[in-house]
Amino acid sequence: MDAPKPTRHRIVIVGGGAGGLPLAARLGDKLGRRGRAEITLVDRYATHLWKPLLHEVAAGRLDADVHGVDYLALAYWHHFRFRQGTVAGLDRARHELMLDAVYDDDGALMLPRRTLRYDTLIFCVGSVSNDFNVPGIAAHAISLDVLADAERFHRRLLAACVRADAEAAAGSPTGVNIVIIGAGATGVELAAEIRHTTGAHASYGLDYLDPEKDIRQTIVEAAPRILPQLSEHVAEAATGLLKKLDIDVRTGERVTLVDEHGVHTASGATYRADLVVWAAGIKAPDWLVDLGGLETGRGNQLVVTTTLQTTRDADVFAFGDCAACPWPEAGRAGALVPPRAQAARQQALLLVKSMQARLAGAPLPTFHFRDLGSLVSLGELSAVGSLMGRLIGGSLLIQGLIARWMYASLYKLHQVAILGYVGVALDTVGRFLSRRTTPRVKLH
Ligand SMILES: Cc1cc2nc3c(=O)[nH]c(=O)nc-3n(C[C@H](O)[C@H](O)[C@H](O)COP(=O)(O)OP(=O)(O)OC[C@H]3O[C@@H](n4cnc5c(N)ncnc54)[C@H](O)[C@@H]3O)c2cc1C
Repeated sequence: MDAPKPTRHRIVIVGGGAGGLPLAARLGDKLGRRGRAEITLVDRYATHLWKPLLHEVAAGRLDADVHGVDYLALAYWHHFRFRQGTVAGLDRARHELMLDAVYDDDGALMLPRRTLRYDTLIFCVGSVSNDFNVPGIAAHAISLDVLADAERFHRRLLAACVRADAEAAAGSPTGVNIVIIGAGATGVELAAEIRHTTGAHASYGLDYLDPEKDIRQTIVEAAPRILPQLSEHVAEAATGLLKKLDIDVRTGERVTLVDEHGVHTASGATYRADLVVWAAGIKAPDWLVDLGGLETGRGNQLVVTTTLQTTRDADVFAFGDCAACPWPEAGRAGALVPPRAQAARQQALLLVKSMQARLAGAPLPTFHFRDLGSLVSLGELSAVGSLMGRLIGGSLLIQGLIARWMYASLYKLHQVAILGYVGVALDTVGRFLSRRTTPRVKLH
């Protein structure tokens, strides 16, 4: 009789985003390819788009059809399995993860409800916007949580511009009022991007609309200054650049209601709006609370130790935006690793080592976040931010083209992790060559 086939260690990664996808690709290359472990990636969608690009999709600078990557193709190239589905439950005692059924666009069943068995389970399901129960957000504002939100905003922006152009042609110009709630990186980047792309849109047939004058943008922020998570220097520089772009910034204004007329604040002000974006805070998804009895903290994040293991189950890991990971190096009591793509990327790299150590029965390495600084993009040719490093002895303010180039390099690093250096080089050349045959902005 044949000896029973040894079962391979099953690693299930839930969430193929900024952290989960590079992790699956590396583990697939290192462990899956050699048959040392079976790597499965689960995501609710069939294609991946790097989340920090969503504001560019919303403004129309980036076409998601061109930049999205199919998980199934990546799975094939990197020796992991891909399973589409959303998490429906977790049975930790049986080491089982339940996935909901998947339906196609017409509502027909594509995949039934399924159960995946795991030896190691890793959650990296990201975050969603937190509306802090402000009334009217769901009905009257858009948050940039997923690609569909960004595309919906873009379609509305185009429609509002075309409408305003027709009104101007008929002699009664009203323009377009856009209010962005929240002056964190997402809100600031979106406002700058819209200023640049609407200018380009106008050159493709909006004959009567003057984008600089007729498209009015306001950023409303409750904190006393913009970019509250970044240093004052960066905020000051960004404020100056927003001013140059004619973007009205209202700080110290707490939004209390959004309705069909616009945005209302605690001070009694009303900002008239045709389009409202909510970008004033994030939380981990609500469904994580009580999932399989795992511990969650403020903002629904799964509480993890410095090995990125959840506090109640050493077989379940979490990282990225959905995890509350201690950051002792920050020097503040209770500080947590910030929800950023660079943190998710660093944690993914650590987990590649952790999984190898786990298979070898060795102790797991611990995570130490290295804050490399933060950059805020203010359009195609400009960015502002701070670089952190021991060599420069702290934080250095950078701006302009160099900052913009460094901002873009974070995406390139992500692409390298999933497409390889040759793939990224070919992709970049291909995009450069196709510039002459595609409009500068997305027109539909
Ligand atoms: C407009 C914008 C700009 C940003 N710019 C920057 C920046 O410049 N620099 C920076 O460091 N950070 C930036 N961020 C933050 C950055 O995007 C996040 O910190 C980062 O994406 C977190 O990575 P993650 O892997 O934890 O989650 P994500 O990248 O969000 O990935 C989560 C994945 O989980 C999947 N998922 C979610 N729920 C389920 C479910 N129930 N079942 C199955 N799959 C699920 C999602 O489909 C997604 O693929 C930006 C964010 C936004 C919105």
